[in-house]
Amino acid sequence: MTEKLERIEVLIIGSGPAGYTAAIYAARADLNPVVIQGLQPGGQLTTTTEVDNYPGYPQGVDGTKMMEDFKAQAERFDTDTRWGMVTKVDLSERPFNVEIDGNKNVLADTVIIATGATAKWLGIPDEERLNGFGVSACAICDGFFYKGQEVVVVGAGDTAAEEATYLAKLCTKVTMLVRRDQMRASKAMQKRVFNTPNIEVMFNHETKSINGEKGVESVTAYNNQTNEETIVPATGFFVAIGHKPNTDLFKGQLEMDENGYLNVEAGTSKTQIPGVFAAGDVADHVYRQAVTSAGTGCMAALDAERFLAAQED
Ligand code: NDP
Repeated sequence: MTEKLERIEVLIIGSGPAGYTAAIYAARADLNPVVIQGLQPGGQLTTTTEVDNYPGYPQGVDGTKMMEDFKAQAERFDTDTRWGMVTKVDLSERPFNVEIDGNKNVLADTVIIATGATAKWLGIPDEERLNGFGVSACAICDGFFYKGQEVVVVGAGDTAAEEATYLAKLCTKVTMLVRRDQMRASKAMQKRVFNTPNIEVMFNHETKSINGEKGVESVTAYNNQTNEETIVPATGFFVAIGHKPNTDLFKGQLEMDENGYLNVEAGTSKTQIPGVFAAGDVADHVYRQAVTSAGTGCMAALDAERFLAAQED
């Protein structure tokens, strides 16, 4: 006899702002959502310190605390939050068969994918040692703390260019370390960088070390053509070398762009498979903010609710 699998109306994969906002809305609509928290419960915000740009927290809030609040609010309406990782999904037929932790399967009428994206890091030891103490992967989140100071940005794509110009408005000087002799960023973004007087671009430069005991004090950069080293004074070190959307699970099943972000129908959270929705950074390489993720989480729950209602008609 085959085991009868648990049936879930709304299965939410991921526990960042998108996942929990979807849960709040789905729970309040009596859809009994289950959140599978994933490898990093609370998502990327739990790796930041102070969040100052989320509306409703006039004094700012610690990222981990904010995500505890999101979770508590979702659970207040009986969201079922579970430890675990989704290890396999079969989106070929509904209800969708979802495997958790490699050993348990459930059936889901709808799936909301809120697995987020992961910032790429250089992989040097100082980066981890000083993470949260001057090292950051988000200028919009953390730039304010470096007002009137000097910072370094690593990267040469649109994100790095955007973060450098953002930081240049707050900081006295921004030094960009670009590993090749040219930038990858769009011409328009490059122009903006070169027209900003307090941004210095160091081409052919990579990071040797980030210096400082309790916080960043300077960065040792080296010229990868000549090996010559330069010590750049800086209290902030921003890594902007791209993000990787957490979509490996869905390869071959859902449409993605060339960088692996999920495609959704414009203005909705709908993927190309009816009943499967995407919210937050997993489908957004442009804004990537907690508040935009929460917004699309809400959209996904409403889309799921309408989808389920239409099935009953
Ligand atoms: P990209 O992949 O476009 O760029 C990453 C950059 O980081 C590249 O310049 C790369 O260098 C550099 N890099 C990678 N690894 C290292 C390393 N180990 N050391 C030093 N440098 C490194 O990522 P983005 O996040 O910039 O952009 C992702 C996508 O999002 C793009 O399509 C972009 O256009 C888009 N985007 C659009 C925006 C907008 O329209 N406003 C804003 C932000 C992003 P190299 O060039 O040598 O490979």
